[in-house]
Amino acid sequence: MNRPVLKDSFGRAITYLRLSITDRCNLRCFYCMPQAQFNWMPPEHILRFEEIIQIVRVLARIGIKKVRLTGGEPLVRKDALNLIKSVSSLEGIKKICLTTNGILLAEMAKDLFETGLRHINISLDTLKPEKFETITGRDFFKSVWHGIENCLNLGFDPIKINFVMMKGKNDDEITEFARLTQKYPLEVRFIEFMPIGEMSKWKKDLFISSDEAKALIEKEVDRLTPLERKVGAGPADLYSFNNSPGKIGFISPLSHKFCSSCNRIRIRADGRLRLCLFSDQEIDLLGLIRRGISDRELTEFFIDAINKKPAKYLENSLHIPSCKRQMSTIGG
Ligand code: SAM
Ligand code: SF4
Repeated sequence: MNRPVLKDSFGRAITYLRLSITDRCNLRCFYCMPQAQFNWMPPEHILRFEEIIQIVRVLARIGIKKVRLTGGEPLVRKDALNLIKSVSSLEGIKKICLTTNGILLAEMAKDLFETGLRHINISLDTLKPEKFETITGRDFFKSVWHGIENCLNLGFDPIKINFVMMKGKNDDEITEFARLTQKYPLEVRFIEFMPIGEMSKWKKDLFISSDEAKALIEKEVDRLTPLERKVGAGPADLYSFNNSPGKIGFISPLSHKFCSSCNRIRIRADGRLRLCLFSDQEIDLLGLIRRGISDRELTEFFIDAINKKPAKYLENSLHIPSCKRQMSTIGG
């Protein structure tokens, strides 16, 4: 069956939903969450299982094909496995992906594989246990690495490693992470550090651009060959070393805007629809759902909302995009 294509007012087809299923997390990455007291979303404000299913069912009918579950840490939500199973079986959903900090993969990777999930992104910013604790506030490096090994052994494909580049914090490990792709079938993605959140620890001095990282890798490791971008692929520019099992991706929201090809919307765990990562414009879905909105009305709501998607992100006076919400409440 030919599905309608959900387009925004700038003609961009919207096919990708990033769905945050919880704002809770078992890590405290300094760049993602405030270190001080944090107010979690009240449980009664979190979208319930059947509410999520209604939202995705409606979106799948009007063009969403890919769904990524994220958080907070999605695997701390008790019904995460059931959500993955149920969302991926909805008609029209072609791809389901998970972004996780990997801590629970040591025990959950097999169950996740059995749900049919294959696309997994694991966040890891260092290979040094002490530095892991400094960045994330917890001593869980071993569990994450064990989780990555589990995923490799089980045959998840692709396994992407999200590495947020921060000068003076982990830039000394950029080449080591690049070398991982010579040994393992991993896609290591170097992500530019973004100034997200009112209490963001982002500073210009911490910023490293993708171009800088790529130059460093080519100087210290080997030449990178660009890989062809697949239709509908994400924002990463992909490369590989000759004869390597893995790939290298650069995600450059600050140095190379990709707004013109943006195909995504985001929904927070409390049902707030975000049309642009960097915009604090949010539309409340939870109220509508709890008032018993029909699928037809919800369809009209989404078509109308997506028309409000901005053409590109707004920059502040330093020509840097930013938003007030913490990343842990948006999901990346
Ligand atoms: N807890 C899961 C995890 O860490 O993978 C999922 C949620 S986390 C918010 C999603 C991704 O956002 C992670 O890869 C994380 O490193 C990235 N992230 C968080 N804050 C960021 C920032 N300020 N700039 C760039 N990436 C960021
Ligand atoms: Fe938690 Fe992921 Fe944010 Fe780290 S990046 S604090 S793991 S939500």
